[in-house]
Amino acid sequence: MVARAKVVQPPAASGWRRPVRRRRWAVPLALVGVLLAGCAAAPTPTLETFGMADPPCYDRGRQPYTPVVDSHVHFRPFGGPALPFEKVVGYLERSGVRFASVYGIGQMLPPGSACTYYLDCPGTPVAPTLRNDFANAIGFAAAGRDGVHLTLAMTFPDLEHPEDVLSGMGVLDREFPGFFRWMGEVNLVKQALFENGHRPVPLAKIRDWAPFMAALRERRMPLALHADLGNDAEPTAYLDWIEAVLRTYPDNTVVWMHMGLSRELLTLDAGNHVAILTSVLERYPNAMLDISWRIIQDHVFADPVQRAVYVDFLNAYSERVLPGTDFVASANRDFEDYRSDLLATSRILRYVDDTAFRNIALGRNYFRLLNLDYEAPPVCGARDDGG
Ligand SMILES: [Zn+2]
Repeated sequence: MVARAKVVQPPAASGWRRPVRRRRWAVPLALVGVLLAGCAAAPTPTLETFGMADPPCYDRGRQPYTPVVDSHVHFRPFGGPALPFEKVVGYLERSGVRFASVYGIGQMLPPGSACTYYLDCPGTPVAPTLRNDFANAIGFAAAGRDGVHLTLAMTFPDLEHPEDVLSGMGVLDREFPGFFRWMGEVNLVKQALFENGHRPVPLAKIRDWAPFMAALRERRMPLALHADLGNDAEPTAYLDWIEAVLRTYPDNTVVWMHMGLSRELLTLDAGNHVAILTSVLERYPNAMLDISWRIIQDHVFADPVQRAVYVDFLNAYSERVLPGTDFVASANRDFEDYRSDLLATSRILRYVDDTAFRNIALGRNYFRLLNLDYEAPPVCGARDDGG
């Protein structure tokens, strides 16, 4: 076990090369969690453990720092072929992920397009579609998923056309009754798509969401929104958009993806950003944040000074945060890509306190949000964390 753990080291912040693949099939699944944590010596608990009334404590010194939840994983790509559903579930299981929200994708290239990534083909329009939700539901129905609890997400809504959302929900209800428990990631404003025909949802349209937002409240389904905060030239250019949603629908659970960051906004001072996030969370008790997407680690959390500001914030608001990879399962990606995204997006969790680790990484927030009958284990040696 120790000898194997030496073979695969966690990647350095930069310059990491994919390790040579050799006889991975010979490694027992339970060891993969160990390998993920480099020098840790105990695996991630199984799914059954989370169903125990009194689960054994989680030893952060010996067990992985990667979360047991991936609340943001796209099983469907922007275009081109997808990884098979079962294969992605296998990636999750091998990585120690026991709970995942299964996203389609909120923007898709036209069927038959040769393009697989929208940034490579400006001018090609992208649009939300029901196709991905059907594909995921079919995969979900067929999947053997004893080791991973999956929550299916609707990603078809075009928020500029809210009049079509309820009817789309009706189609999914009819075809796959009871399957879908989450809505998102859907795009409110995503600057990366501006070259592909997307524009910010007109602010005046937001009040027209009322019928489907009522349906989400009734079903206790969260809405996960991609809503860019702004860009490096104007960091709060789009703050009004997320504010308008939260102000209009304060009783809906809204998860703000990537804390509003994006490739277009990576130089915002951590203190200023945290002040905005704090203000939002204080004013809207049903708002939550998602810390997914490795660009946040690579460009923001990687800096120790910035990181310290975010760690204090995550500790203070740890009940309001969800972890995720933002992995996109296009067929040209593999387990090493998933693992790399998981390690990158988890690194910040090495620094948070035990209460925050239990809330964010060990699933407590996720279980509460979805009303799941699971229990996050306490962290070994942690002082009372309000359990
Ligand atoms: Zn995403």
